Amino acid sequence: MKNFAYARPASLRDAAEAAAADGAHVVAGGTTMVDLMKIGVLEAETLVSLSGLSGLSGHEVGAERLRFGALSTMAAVADDPKVVQAFPALSEALWKAASPQLRNVATLGGNILQRTRCPYFRDAAYSQCNKRSPGSGCAALDGGETTLHAILGGSNACAAMYPGDFAQALVAFDAEVRTQGADGGRTIPFAKLHVRPGDRPEVETVLKPGEIVTEISLAVIPAMANSHYLKARDRESYAFAAASAAVGVEMDGDAVRDVRIGLGGVASTPWRATAAEASLKGKPLTEETARAAGRIAFEDAEPLEGSAYKIALGADVVAGALMQVKSRMGAK
Ligand code: SF4
Repeated sequence: MKNFAYARPASLRDAAEAAAADGAHVVAGGTTMVDLMKIGVLEAETLVSLSGLSGLSGHEVGAERLRFGALSTMAAVADDPKVVQAFPALSEALWKAASPQLRNVATLGGNILQRTRCPYFRDAAYSQCNKRSPGSGCAALDGGETTLHAILGGSNACAAMYPGDFAQALVAFDAEVRTQGADGGRTIPFAKLHVRPGDRPEVETVLKPGEIVTEISLAVIPAMANSHYLKARDRESYAFAAASAAVGVEMDGDAVRDVRIGLGGVASTPWRATAAEASLKGKPLTEETARAAGRIAFEDAEPLEGSAYKIALGADVVAGALMQVKSRMGAK
């Protein structure tokens, strides 16, 4: 690892100014950043730590809105019984995202901004990676291993998959993020925070240099209470999703009034399956309608040779998550 300077500003504005400098990177829990520096994928001139800031941790579960400080740890939110009751999918997504050791340290802000697990991105020995070295090519698309790659939202320059879990619950339920930059703050719909790779895979979000995520919040809706996060992966712990779904359902009698479906492990960004949602509205929630929604969620998939299995797996995961919610609703 190369030497770097370490800054620990005492105010958010100072942190945003320091983070906007060339070669500066923000660090919170450090579970992603330090990894990437150790393996030589990321070099920082300065690490700007958020650990000296107050007011960015803690969370509230209100009747109308859920608020999560960006420095809240994954464990603090996942383990809160109020979160478990109000929004099970969110708690489950955090639980399944990392080992207990990581959940105790990793922050929500860092979690949503985590980098891809594409093996070519994370191994500096590979010279071809448009995300790490713009214009260098893509080892995955150039005949490489593509088992872990995206089947939705990729491009001819990059097929990397967004690896998070928590983000699927956020995108499905219309979360917003609050940010602070050197020139002021703004609110960004979560669905617009991440950007598809297009011809510039190195650009992963709409955040400006130095802009810091300070809070994540969601309006409470009935479908949250009837929600579930289902994750299919190689092993039950400490593995990234091969396919996952955060779903929530609100019924009106025997018909679906509202349904939310966020997909993980299959797309270049946190992915909302809007066509699948539309297919369910006004219909009963049955094995048949759930399976149809799963198929519709992947109608536009463009798999690579190694990732084609994700179409059937993802459809099964969507249907399985919906049926799990139905089962839970029946038990209430
Ligand atoms: Fe790099 Fe994206 Fe290609 Fe992976 S898929 S090697 S991250 S350009």
